[in-house]
Amino acid sequence: MTTDKPLQIAVVGSGPSGCFLAQALNRKRPNDIIIVFDQLAAPYGLIRYGVATDHQQTKSITRQFDRLFAKENVKFAGNIEIGADIKIEDLREQFDVVALATGRPNARQLDVPGKDLEGVYTAADLIYSLNSFRGKTDVFSTLGEHIVLVGGGNVALDILRFLIKEHTDYDGSDINDDALEAYLDAPVKSVTVLNRSSIDEAKSDSAMLRELGSIEGVRFSSNHSPKDGLDENSAAARRRAAVDSLVTDQPSTPRVEVGFWFSTAPEQFLGTDTLEAIQIHETETHESSEIHADSVITAVGFEADDKSPIYKGHESLMRITEDSGRIEPGLYRTGWLKRGAVGTIPANRACAQDVAKEILADIDGNHIHTATEKRGIDGLRHHLAEDPISFAQWVLANEKELSLAEVNRVRKKFVGQQGIIDQATTQS
Ligand SMILES: Cc1cc2nc3c(=O)[nH]c(=O)nc-3n(C[C@H](O)[C@H](O)[C@H](O)COP(=O)(O)OP(=O)(O)OC[C@H]3O[C@@H](n4cnc5c(N)ncnc54)[C@H](O)[C@@H]3O)c2cc1C
Repeated sequence: MTTDKPLQIAVVGSGPSGCFLAQALNRKRPNDIIIVFDQLAAPYGLIRYGVATDHQQTKSITRQFDRLFAKENVKFAGNIEIGADIKIEDLREQFDVVALATGRPNARQLDVPGKDLEGVYTAADLIYSLNSFRGKTDVFSTLGEHIVLVGGGNVALDILRFLIKEHTDYDGSDINDDALEAYLDAPVKSVTVLNRSSIDEAKSDSAMLRELGSIEGVRFSSNHSPKDGLDENSAAARRRAAVDSLVTDQPSTPRVEVGFWFSTAPEQFLGTDTLEAIQIHETETHESSEIHADSVITAVGFEADDKSPIYKGHESLMRITEDSGRIEPGLYRTGWLKRGAVGTIPANRACAQDVAKEILADIDGNHIHTATEKRGIDGLRHHLAEDPISFAQWVLANEKELSLAEVNRVRKKFVGQQGIIDQATTQS
């Protein structure tokens, strides 16, 4: 292959990993055509649909990707599901390089007896509605007064913040107000946060814990014991300091109680059809006990959507690896699909840059062979019933969302994809 011919590069997934990869490749090979496909009409994956609605600063990273898509040679192709609308094999026939950045969007289920009882929810049941990925669900009006939250990472803390915040705490957010109002009609009185790990090994960031301290009317408690001799700059010491400070600053008349129970894991969800209690055990002493709960929300990680047609016959693509992103010359993967559902947005930048280096080395080393002329997306039009949503069309939908923002909100999101598609296609 000659390297002066512009290559056709397909990136599948417009979440942070796909966008960082497109950015890194475009910097080194500004003449190549890069098409970033997404099954959704809106770009940016979990930045739009996962990151908490009150963390707009985090979401603002999309501005740098907006600038990427403003380039003539980098295009967004939304509302195209690879694996369903276009097979990977067909994509590879028309593109010199195909890189998968399809993420791991499904909430992992906690595999304990009683997991199917009514009243047992996953983080995704709340987060995807709060972010308008789907409409309001019954979960918001059926949580009850006493909630057990299972999980010790940042997503659990996103859920906790939601459970204990009041209406005005959402100023400046893009929360789905139908879901918020349904919840605030009867908010919780107590949240018990079960963390299998000790406070020293917990996954949560101290900054996220400290942020809880700015919410009025919450009384925090924790079961951790003091410990001497920790390096004060260690993550464990900072986490302890954050929890200690939450516990020290007590309101006189709390609205809601939050208990952090470290080294404690659920054994069983109890109830006939509906959840009534949780059997828990202390992971160090192995003591068991039972606590009452109206509902439980599990935030124990995310995994690949193994039902997605893209993986049919390509199951090995879901294998987690810290090694190479190269599956074979010409086919690559990056981000959460490659490394598993761990790491924040910046970790995907580093991952994408490493995979970009592998791709560039394969191009420079002539390891990518093309048998026929590759036509990129033009060679695939016959597979598509409708044209992809372009970036310019997405901008129209985006502007509409911004213009519809109600008082104290930064935007009013379309719920799901159809509103975006309608807006994008009728205006253009
Ligand atoms: C609830 C939650 C909150 C988080 N909050 C933060 C935070 O505050 N700060 C932070 O730094 N990190 C946060 N993270 C982590 C961050 O979201 C991830 O690190 C990041 O989104 C992973 O990027 P990705 O591009 O690999 O996957 P994703 O963001 O999931 O993007 C994958 C994209 O691929 C598309 N796709 C999938 N299958 C197909 C297909 N077959 N065809 C076409 N397109 C497809 C999807 O529609 C999606 O757009 C959070 C994660 C979660 C789950």
